[in-house]
Parts: sequence; C-alpha cells; structure tokens
Amino acid sequence: MKRTAITCALVLTALCLPLFSGCQRTRAHTMSAYTVLEEPTYSSKGKLSRSCLDAGCDYTETKELRASAGLIYTESDGRIYVAGKGGCTDSVIYISSETQDQKKVYGIGASAFLDDKQITAVIVGKDVREIGSGAFAGCEALESVTLPDSAATIGSECFLSCEALASVRLPASLSAIPDNCFCGCISLIDVSFPVGLETIGYSAFNRCSSLNAAVFPETLQTVGSFAFCDCTSLTFCSFPTGLTSLSPYSFSGSGLKSALLPPTLEKLGSCAFYRCRSLTDVFLPKEVRTVEAPEGMSPFYESSDQLTVRTDALEKSPGWDEGFDILFIPDAGNGETVRVRVLYKQQKN
Ligand SMILES: [Zn+2]
Repeated sequence: MKRTAITCALVLTALCLPLFSGCQRTRAHTMSAYTVLEEPTYSSKGKLSRSCLDAGCDYTETKELRASAGLIYTESDGRIYVAGKGGCTDSVIYISSETQDQKKVYGIGASAFLDDKQITAVIVGKDVREIGSGAFAGCEALESVTLPDSAATIGSECFLSCEALASVRLPASLSAIPDNCFCGCISLIDVSFPVGLETIGYSAFNRCSSLNAAVFPETLQTVGSFAFCDCTSLTFCSFPTGLTSLSPYSFSGSGLKSALLPPTLEKLGSCAFYRCRSLTDVFLPKEVRTVEAPEGMSPFYESSDQLTVRTDALEKSPGWDEGFDILFIPDAGNGETVRVRVLYKQQKN
C-alpha cells in the first residue's frame, strides 16, 4: 500500500513538474539507441522505441515518424548513396533504403553528414549496405545511432568526435570496427559488439572516457593500436578465447583493473597496458609466444606498482622480450600456477 502511495506521489510530481515554470528539471534519462518496431515510409509513420540505460530505471518511450525527406543523393558505379542532408530539417533522421522516387539506396556516402549540428539521432533503414568514411564525424548533437544488420561495412572515422553520442546499435553483420570509428566519443556508454566481430581498428574507441565495460564476442581476433587508449572509465573487459593479438598501446591509460588473457593470444604488444594505474591483476598464459618490450617498454610499463602478473609458464618464453624483468614466485595454493611480479626497467634514454 505504502509503496503504491509513494509511486502515485512520484507520478503526480512528474506530471505536475512541467506545469510550474522555473521548477528544477529532473536529470535527463540516459537513453538507448532506437529500435525499429515498424519501418517508416515517406507516406506513413513507422514506430521506434528506446529505453533508459540507467540502472534501476525502466523508463521507455516510443516515437512515430516518417522517413526523412529532402536528402540529397549521388550515384557511383550504378549505386545510390546519400550525399547530404539537403533540405531535410529533421533532428531525428530516418534514412530509408529507398529514395522518394523508389530507387534503392546502397549506402551513405563519405562525409555525408560531416559536422552537422542539428541531428540528435540517426536510424538507418534495413537493406542499406554501407556507411561511408566520416559519414557522421563531428555531429556534436548526435546522441544515438541505429544501424541495420545489412550494413556490413562502416568506413573509418565514421563517428569521430561525436561528443554527445551515448548509445550505438551496430549491425550484426559487422566484422570490423574501422580505424578512429568512435575516437573522441566521450559520452559513449552503450555499445554492444556484434557476434561476428573479428577486428577492432586503430584508435577505434580512443578517449571514449564514459565507456565502462567491453564484452567482446568469441570471434574477436585483433585489437588495434590505441583502440581503447584513455578509456578512463573502462574497468572491465573480456578477452575471449580466439583473440590472437593486442597491439601496442591498445588499452593504454584505460581504467582496467584486471586482464585475463587467453591462451590463443600470440602477441602482446609493447605498452598494451601502459599507464593503467588501476591494473592489479593480469594472467599471462604460457602459450603467448611474443611479449614485446622494446627498450623496457613492456606491455605493463608504468602501470600500477601493485600489479601482479600471474602465469602458468615456468620461465620466461624465448619470445618474451628481455626488456622487462619478471620474478617468478611459486603459488602455494596451486602447484601448476606460478605467480609473477613484474619489475620495471626504466626506459633507456
Ligand atoms: Zn532513466
């Protein structure tokens, strides 16, 4: 009973708030990207829904809209691409897979919406195959992006410096997140990695300082240089079996607390965890063939001095660079596991 009364009071308060001018606004919900419930056309409205991402909040909303009209197009090799906003004034933009004169839209052209200041949400219609390089780069008001599963290719710098971008729904068919794709997306908190994802490119999530977790699919093989550099809120990351390479500086300056690396990992790049000040626990399997540490720049260079690297190797493998010192300490609790403490060598001048 009491709970119902409180709920009623809250609902009433919420209803009344807009009636009083100058009242304090409640904090905005952190909304997910839109899900398409019914595909819109130019003549009839479709339906979208989205929900709040904040823990414990079950706020959802639906939106009805028509496909955005007035966009301009270009043709290349017989394929039609969206080239720009043209006369369209929508802030929530729905890009149909057909032009208004019913020609099939293959993709969104390079830099099509570059530096647009008005767009807050983008939904790309089903069947669109390609999103060009820099298509939405610098869209400072853009908060959410929904891409169709048909979009197998996304160009580099696609969402570079979209500083308000919080939530992205990536295509299920995507196998590569390209270079600089979400670089500088400082508000990005919600991104689910497609199940077939194989590579994450150079600097792809560099400076995504709101991103707090990354759960990768089993298909992921390589993570590029600087991919998660300075993701200061990134405390958890899964490193799936199948992963073969972590490039230099891939997680440098991130908030990672632990890194349990898989036995499939062949190469651990120098400075991969450089300046990870919260990193205290790493598991480095004996199968890892190459651990780079040129001139003392080990994968753990300038990380926490509380860092313990555990391994099941009995000694340093030949491919583990001599540029860093490790100390093997047998683990009393488990005969097969050896505890390793990393000691740092200063960088040579
Ligand atoms: Zn909420």
